[in-house]
Amino acid sequence: MPANALTLSNPDDGKRNLLGMPEEALVGFFEDLDQKPFRARQIMRWVYKRRVLDFAAMTDLSKSLREQLSTVADLRLPDVISEERSADGTRKWLLDVGGGQAVETVFIPEPRRATLCISSQAGCALDCDFCATGKQGFNRNLSIAEILGQVVLASIEVAPTEISNVVFMGMGEPLANYANVVPVAKLLINDRAFGLSRRRVTISTVGLVPQITRLAEECNVALAVSLHAPNDELRDRLVPINRVHPIASLLDACWRYARVLASRQVTFEYVMLDGVNDSPAHAADLARLLRGRPAKVNLIPFNSFPGSGFRCSSAESIEAFWQVLQSRGIVATIRRPRGDDIAAACGQLAGRIDDRRKVRLSHKLVGAEGE
Ligand code: SAH
Repeated sequence: MPANALTLSNPDDGKRNLLGMPEEALVGFFEDLDQKPFRARQIMRWVYKRRVLDFAAMTDLSKSLREQLSTVADLRLPDVISEERSADGTRKWLLDVGGGQAVETVFIPEPRRATLCISSQAGCALDCDFCATGKQGFNRNLSIAEILGQVVLASIEVAPTEISNVVFMGMGEPLANYANVVPVAKLLINDRAFGLSRRRVTISTVGLVPQITRLAEECNVALAVSLHAPNDELRDRLVPINRVHPIASLLDACWRYARVLASRQVTFEYVMLDGVNDSPAHAADLARLLRGRPAKVNLIPFNSFPGSGFRCSSAESIEAFWQVLQSRGIVATIRRPRGDDIAAACGQLAGRIDDRRKVRLSHKLVGAEGE
């Protein structure tokens, strides 16, 4: 059990926040109150199935237990600072995570699915050149309650629409906060909690090889990898962690992951940067890397933000790039930007990081797995 599952108490009132607590920890919590283990399931049903957060309303618990719970525990959602709605239906919440920090969560409705994009860290230490979050530096890892709280909050806000997909593509590098992200992913696919299929929960990573290997064993949800370049020289520049985990070792880890996924593909994200990584030759090199592998490519038109220093590739270059992949047998899609009028599109999430530690790329930090 992750250590921080025990330290979700609110410093103000000493109550334990049960939101996001892993099932085993919740069982232990009730045992400490001399209650039977099935209480954990009852609470999970109320919170995750019925989205009821008030103990007083949990009518299959005895009145005395409900009263006891409200003195020792709570179910606390992140505080919403503001909400914006895009003309295309996308909604974005700015959430207060204390200490002057705020993170963002984005809801993206589509005709056949409704996707929630969640943040895993306040800021990010990986420093990818083209990403607004990376430009801000890193403040801290979000707790389990802060990550899962985004899903509970959004599912209440968008009801009766049901969230069908959750993607860890908001602020932060999820696998650098492994200890807190994995318990959340497990609750998302747990039938007693959200019960989403593994295919509908996607962890997007910059490419932390040891954590990808570990994830395959512990929680094999869908994997997306931010590749963005077909050779080490270019990737070293765009995604600096490539100097630690170069493309060959990253792809090796991906193919091992795909074997565990049993016939499912790894998605490779590729941001289209004008004149940087978007030539037909780049596409041919990318196809060579992925050919015959369980891979698909998602081309992401670059979303600009102030001071980024990059431009999005033209529609023609994106189309030509896609054609080269397609003609070489690589399945590729082009991501349609959503919510860019409210700066909710990929790479535009900046939240508010006042007290960043300015920790950028540091091997120690990236290897620390969520400490
Ligand atoms: N840290 C994770 C999640 C990042 S956000 C990761 O690196 O995968 C999800 C995707 O958006 C990543 O592929 C990221 O590289 C991409 N992205 C970042 N900035 C972007 C921008 N300005 N425009 C388009 N995509 C961007």
